[in-house]
Amino acid sequence: MQDGQIFEQRYRIVREVGRGSYGIVYAAQDLHANQNVAIKVLLPWVRADQDLRHRLQREAKLTRMLVGQHAVRIFDFAETPDGDLYIVMEFLDGEELSQLLLREGRLKPERVAEIGRQILDALRESHRLGVIHRDLKPHNVLVCGAGSGRDFVKVLDFGIAKVAGNEDGSGLMETTRLTAPGNIVGTPAYMSPEQCRGEPLTVASDFYSVGVLMYEMAVGRPPFDDPNPLQVLMLHNTQPVPPLSPAITGAPLGQAILRALEKDPKDRFASADDFLAAIDGRTPEIMSSTVRSKRVPTLRPAPVATVAPTGSDVPALASPSAQVLSRRKAPSRSFGQLIRSYWVAILIVLLLIVLAATRLWN
Ligand code: ADP
Ligand code: MG
Repeated sequence: MQDGQIFEQRYRIVREVGRGSYGIVYAAQDLHANQNVAIKVLLPWVRADQDLRHRLQREAKLTRMLVGQHAVRIFDFAETPDGDLYIVMEFLDGEELSQLLLREGRLKPERVAEIGRQILDALRESHRLGVIHRDLKPHNVLVCGAGSGRDFVKVLDFGIAKVAGNEDGSGLMETTRLTAPGNIVGTPAYMSPEQCRGEPLTVASDFYSVGVLMYEMAVGRPPFDDPNPLQVLMLHNTQPVPPLSPAITGAPLGQAILRALEKDPKDRFASADDFLAAIDGRTPEIMSSTVRSKRVPTLRPAPVATVAPTGSDVPALASPSAQVLSRRKAPSRSFGQLIRSYWVAILIVLLLIVLAATRLWN
């Protein structure tokens, strides 16, 4: 769209802000509501997929219900007469966390904790609505409030990442599909081990991604990074988290980060509130498995939101015994699940062999 163009007889386009995996974002003026907005026009492949459109609409309904101060406000989700899908949201005058980290390297622990708290505040609300973010990364966290001396965080792209995934929520396929042809995975550095394996996700996957974000803010780089995305997928699943500095590890902040980065979703936090409490040292049982003794912490099982089955607009509230998040022993995996994870592992190994062979031939 051209600068100055009137879109949908209502929005004056000011400028293009940027391009992402799902669409092009414009800064615009809403001539009816007399306010600045950001309009994300979704890319043609999104509108071509009828099933995806349907799910996107359903998800937009839920996302519009997010009214907390740290989630981006969505005003509208609509379609032009030509069939273009677009999302109208509040315009945010901020800096992506990725840019902030590029400039500052790493942040002081108090700042890491403060930004983490605000991201978790946004997640608390979305998880209650049954929306798992699935794509938490520094590009999706805007830090506003420059000059005010206090970071004010806004989390972007709620729900969109989710609906763009498979019906079963497998994140690997989602990312594979969203990136340009030939480019296998977007940013695997922030994906949870189960997301790397293509398994169905719970809110615990978001907590892992927050753990990665907080680790990166504290250390200056994410725990697992490599130019080869397949290698990163492997590292998430097989390697222990590289140690934080003793000063951070000894503090509640470090313990909270390590616990969020547990490989097994059951060992992470059950809710955003638990994560928040751990950051502030308000829970005694926050030590990660890397340092805790054999004793099993007794966590209050919190009711957690899970995503509603397709076709329903109401997110289901899981019982306190929700198997994925409670601290009780998880039911053993079904035979099908076992076969599936073996296949994913075998696939990763095969891909690595092919990659190595290609390098040798060249
Ligand atoms: P990605 O798919 O990589 O997450 P997006 O399409 O979400 O990218 O965003 C593209 C660009 O637009 C980014 O630079 C992002 O910071 C910016 N952007 C997205 N939403 C808003 C908003 N509500 N206000 C201001 N800038 C935004
Ligand atoms: Mg984004």
